Amino acid sequence: MTALPRRLLPDTADVGSDGWLTIGGCSIRDLAAEFGTPLFVYDEQHIRNRCREAVAAFGPQQAVYASKAFLCKAMARIAYEEEMRLDVATGGELHTVLAAGVPAASCVLHGNNKSVAELTTAITERVRHIVVDSFDELDRLDALHEIGVGPTPDILLRITPGVHAHTHEFIATGQDDSKFGFNLGNGDAMRAVERAQASPSVNLVGLHCHIGSNVFAAASFGKAVEVMAGFARPLGLPELVLGGGLGVAYVETEEAPTLTQWGHVLRDACESLGVTARVSVEPGRSIVASAALTVYTLGTIKQIPGVRTYFSVDGGMSDNPRPVLYGSGYESFLPRAPFADRTQHGRLVGKHCESGDVLLFDAKLPGDARVGDVLATPVTGAYGRSMGSNYNAITRPPVVFARDGDARLVIRRETFDDLLATDVG
Ligand SMILES: *Cc1c(COP(=O)(O)O)cnc(C)c1O
Repeated sequence: MTALPRRLLPDTADVGSDGWLTIGGCSIRDLAAEFGTPLFVYDEQHIRNRCREAVAAFGPQQAVYASKAFLCKAMARIAYEEEMRLDVATGGELHTVLAAGVPAASCVLHGNNKSVAELTTAITERVRHIVVDSFDELDRLDALHEIGVGPTPDILLRITPGVHAHTHEFIATGQDDSKFGFNLGNGDAMRAVERAQASPSVNLVGLHCHIGSNVFAAASFGKAVEVMAGFARPLGLPELVLGGGLGVAYVETEEAPTLTQWGHVLRDACESLGVTARVSVEPGRSIVASAALTVYTLGTIKQIPGVRTYFSVDGGMSDNPRPVLYGSGYESFLPRAPFADRTQHGRLVGKHCESGDVLLFDAKLPGDARVGDVLATPVTGAYGRSMGSNYNAITRPPVVFARDGDARLVIRRETFDDLLATDVG
């Protein structure tokens, strides 16, 4: 079997009478014609389904969408409408979420090096929680309190539990050698708790941990809960946040737990360990990754006999840097024949001026793939648009939310003038 597995496509994926893939009742053929390529197409119902699944598993306001996975005003509103909170890690993410009309009381501020300006905004806008990451940040909060910046914020302390998540080292965050959080093993975590509890500048309401991203092994989460529960229980704080990091299947050989299964693992672990705190989680990738596909046009096919075939599309590392950064794998297909056998192998590359600009190291495509074809890569809804760049002065692609036959443009394509908007010379 070389056809694209159906499970890698968004929930509402279907095939129209002309054989083309449809998402949210909209034909990819029409969307490519109307909005041009490259284009991100999100299945809005799929996003809502995942938000609802997270809320059903953990409770309203106890599933916090990690906005760095994919953020724009429309996305922030959906997460809020679906009764999630929003996790932001910078002033820019907070600004976007507030601009969307999400109340600050639904926002949680993260970051291992928050600036005085970011902390000031978080305090004066009254975000729900600031997740404090270091002793230097506690110093900054003391200094703000001393000059009268208030009200006194409710904080969580980010704890590094010393659990190794089996994921790429750049996105593993729970081990001892980490820039994030207060180490449990060397006593920093306890020192931070004592300092925060004695401090008039913060209200310590709970603890936080995040062991890493794209974690497939449910056992890693169980282990983190065990370590955190042991530390948290005697403190009796009301909140415990167990982070995000649930993996998703990007390629046909991968299987990931569902949000519902993740919920069972965490809830069972908390119950058996006697956790009485209110438990929250922060899923990002598992909410949006498989909601979207990136739609490109195939422009150049270069066959090098005995070596390989290069398929070049009109985007690349500027709309999806994950293959270059982490060696991440994806699938490819032709939306005009979504479940055709993919009998040809080659390397799917972008249009940037470097050989490292690879989208799929080993792409499979139908044998009749030709120049001018619309080509798509599924499961590109997380950390693609948000990690994208303007490298080579490429204008970043638009984002369309498709739902019930309606295609809503939520981010327009950048223009060449947008590229010059910050030039002052
Ligand atoms: C990135 C991040 C998340 C989300 O991780 P995913 O792998 O996208 O689910 C949650 N919490 C924190 C603190 C993060 O940094």
